[in-house]
Amino acid sequence: MVLANQIAIVTGAARGIGQAISMLLAEQGATVIAADMNAEGLTAAVGEAKAKGLAGKIVPKLLNVTDGAAIDAFIDEVMKEFGKIDILVNNAGITRDGLLMNMEDEQFDLVIDVNLRSVFRLTRAVSRYMVRARYGRIVNMASVSGMMGNPGQANYAASKAGVIGFTKTVAKELGKRGITANAVAPGFIDTPMTQVLPDKLKDGIKQFVPLQRFGTPADVAAAVAFLSSPASGYITGQVLPVDGGLNM
Ligand code: NAP
Repeated sequence: MVLANQIAIVTGAARGIGQAISMLLAEQGATVIAADMNAEGLTAAVGEAKAKGLAGKIVPKLLNVTDGAAIDAFIDEVMKEFGKIDILVNNAGITRDGLLMNMEDEQFDLVIDVNLRSVFRLTRAVSRYMVRARYGRIVNMASVSGMMGNPGQANYAASKAGVIGFTKTVAKELGKRGITANAVAPGFIDTPMTQVLPDKLKDGIKQFVPLQRFGTPADVAAAVAFLSSPASGYITGQVLPVDGGLNM
């Protein structure tokens, strides 16, 4: 199996895209540390993994990615338990949409904290070990919003554009140590994050998707799994859209 004996961390792994990524990396042989602050969702995700014959391949850990001290303790714990970290998938993310003129500071700050500052903190903590190992795969979740902008998402688009700039910088700093850093930029994916949007808005968006459908978590997971694997070893600093052609 392509990821046999590899240790992967996936944040926001309790549901949606993060859960699909965890499952696929586990199916490909990795031991996945599934980090999330949604305890119930984690338990359900572990149950699903067991049902698929992947008992023990998904290890749940409670983590709020906005808590810097908790991140450092979490990475220490993973290193003590597993001895290495080959793959880091920074997937946890939230939206707090609103038009710019009405957007509160707290609404902006929270989205930056969850979507961008956490990526900085986790990558900084993990990179110390990847540098020593001279190997690593870092995959950060961006969004087409961070490339195209999107009305009502000034906070979210800024956070995801930040993720892209951060990813390219990490790729340049760590490339000489055998570490790649790439971003995946999903378009409109059918998950709990988007299921709450009105049908009228969703139908409007679909018209602009050349493939004429919304993506699935599995569509995104496939791209992440490739960028997490040894096969993508000569690809770094890239942003891979998984958007049915929405952004081209
Ligand atoms: P989702 O269904 O809302 O799942 C996100 C997961 O992250 C949830 O389990 C959530 O826990 C967890 N989470 C939120 N805040 C956290 C925190 N502070 N610490 C730890 N975990 C936290 O979202 P998704 O649609 O799968 O999105 C995953 C990623 O893809 C995000 O970065 C998102 O921005 C990006 N993305 C999604 C789409 C899309 O169309 N869905 C498009 C472009 C990019 P709770 O359940 O407790 O909130």
